[in-house]
Amino acid sequence: MKDIATPTRTQEILKKYGFSFKKSLGQNFLIDPNILRNIVSHAGLTKETGVIEIGPGIGALTEHLARGAGKVVAFEIDQRLLPVLEDTLSAYDYVEIIHSDVLKADVAHVIRESLSGFNDLMVVANLPYYVTTPILMKLLMEDLPVRGIVVMMQKEVGDRITASPSTKAYGSLSIAVQYYMEAETAMTVPKNVFMPAPNVDSTIIKLTKRETPATAVDNEDFFFDVTRASFAQRRKTILNNLQTGLPNGKSRKEEIVTALEAAGIDPIRRGETLSIQEFGKLSNELGKFFH
Ligand code: SAM
Repeated sequence: MKDIATPTRTQEILKKYGFSFKKSLGQNFLIDPNILRNIVSHAGLTKETGVIEIGPGIGALTEHLARGAGKVVAFEIDQRLLPVLEDTLSAYDYVEIIHSDVLKADVAHVIRESLSGFNDLMVVANLPYYVTTPILMKLLMEDLPVRGIVVMMQKEVGDRITASPSTKAYGSLSIAVQYYMEAETAMTVPKNVFMPAPNVDSTIIKLTKRETPATAVDNEDFFFDVTRASFAQRRKTILNNLQTGLPNGKSRKEEIVTALEAAGIDPIRRGETLSIQEFGKLSNELGKFFH
């Protein structure tokens, strides 16, 4: 069957439905089947896999997912796309479109209802760029029973997600994601594979869920508070940032220094030099005073 994701077919579909792109919804549709094959190959799909897609658009990625997976459930916010998808995906029985803002959706409930029986679950999407980080954080924090996540996003965010310590891109987002998932860049993608072309370069990121988080922490919320505080002002030392960011930190310098030393971290280091494991140790030591 002819792919949706060719420039000609996409144009035909847009014309047939008089569809106009909404920039505010991050609508940049893929028009290159090679890129779609690449995304799908990184997801490792079989007919035993249930896929959750976010933002099917006119179905370019959805049809590739439907060919490889047992079932695809896709969340689409734009009502105008529902009749289009009904038409473009009519050949695929095991696709379910849910008209909803994924940020407001109860994804765990949808998995239970629509993907019961699938022990292997993947999230695969060409994400709307205006909400990449909130969507990813939602998927991670809800601790969904997925094997992994393969997503297209703006390169700048992808670089932050996969960054290692002591690099410019490394920050609290790198830690928030890498705490739960192993993160790698699968491919950098040029602008001309989208219609319309976005202003920024893109990248495909592959996240694989860890069996246990990257470091053992006593209190996850506090661990994330500590990492956020440590990066608040990148040029400051970790001691300085913690004094500013922790409750009454200014008057509790001694406790913070004691915790840093117990975790084996020199107080004059900058937050960006600490590994996830060091942040784990540090938050456990700080927790003895701040919890
Ligand atoms: N998957 C298609 C493709 O690759 O050609 C379209 C990808 S386009 C980058 C993003 C899609 O996400 C659009 O269809 C847009 O309407 C949809 N979208 C935007 N915000 C959304 C949200 N909060 N929840 C669900 N879908 C959303």
